[in-house]
Amino acid sequence: MPIDLSTLNIIFGIFVFLFGISIGSFLNVVAYRIPLNISIVRPRSFCPNCKKTVPNYALIPVIGYILTHAKCNKCNYKIPITYPIVELLTGILTLFIFFRFLTPINVLEAFPAFLTVETFQYGKFHFNNFVPFFVSLWILYTGIPLSIIDLKYRILPNKIIYPGIIIGFLISCFNHNLGWSGSLIGIITGSGGLFFIAKIYELLRGKQGIGMGDVKYLGFIGAVLGWKGVVFTLFYASIIGAIIGILWGIISKKGLATAIPFGPFLASAALAISTYGDEILAFIFKN
Ligand SMILES: [Zn+2]
Repeated sequence: MPIDLSTLNIIFGIFVFLFGISIGSFLNVVAYRIPLNISIVRPRSFCPNCKKTVPNYALIPVIGYILTHAKCNKCNYKIPITYPIVELLTGILTLFIFFRFLTPINVLEAFPAFLTVETFQYGKFHFNNFVPFFVSLWILYTGIPLSIIDLKYRILPNKIIYPGIIIGFLISCFNHNLGWSGSLIGIITGSGGLFFIAKIYELLRGKQGIGMGDVKYLGFIGAVLGWKGVVFTLFYASIIGAIIGILWGIISKKGLATAIPFGPFLASAALAISTYGDEILAFIFKN
């Protein structure tokens, strides 16, 4: 049975998107439970208000929100709109990252035994094709809960950062552009560099401006993007953070000294660099 390439893209697209919104649903759980010190696997999902277990249909990503009319069926607690938004965002970005780095053919190459379709010329499976995909995905899947938690509690929990560094380091061992040594240098420049900036700031201003969570998070970003990734993440996050900080200071009328959480800026800058790093560098140096 011949399948053409566009059909294959659509089939893969649907599966990748469904996978993405399911991960998004799990990331909501992670973002809710980690700061409260509840296990992310047990107990099963419950209403944050009445603590009663939610019905199965409510657990379906995005659709559950519609089926429940955005309410808990026991206590009428209003489910925040952020839940389906996080699910959709995770789904869309997962889909985007997949097609940015891979094609369905790359994936099919991993299963030569199952290949009976003769329409395509398959190459040999290369794990290296998957490395930039896993790097971006790992930045996305840790960045979303970290951003939510940072916005809500102004912390970046070690329970996400430490596994982030360890798994990031392991992925980098397969990354020919970085390797284990490049990853280690990234961790040191990331956390060491920001720690240094934080201390200077403290000396000059006499108060803490950069949290230790940000310091460790930049170490994590260094583990997957290397020292160059660290420099550009810090550069971008600072510029975007400063612009939004100023706008927020004006809109909220709280003044420019208002501290805003830095985590979401680090996360989005790291994601941009992991997906479009080469283009961003070319844009800066050739324009
Ligand atoms: Zn309830």
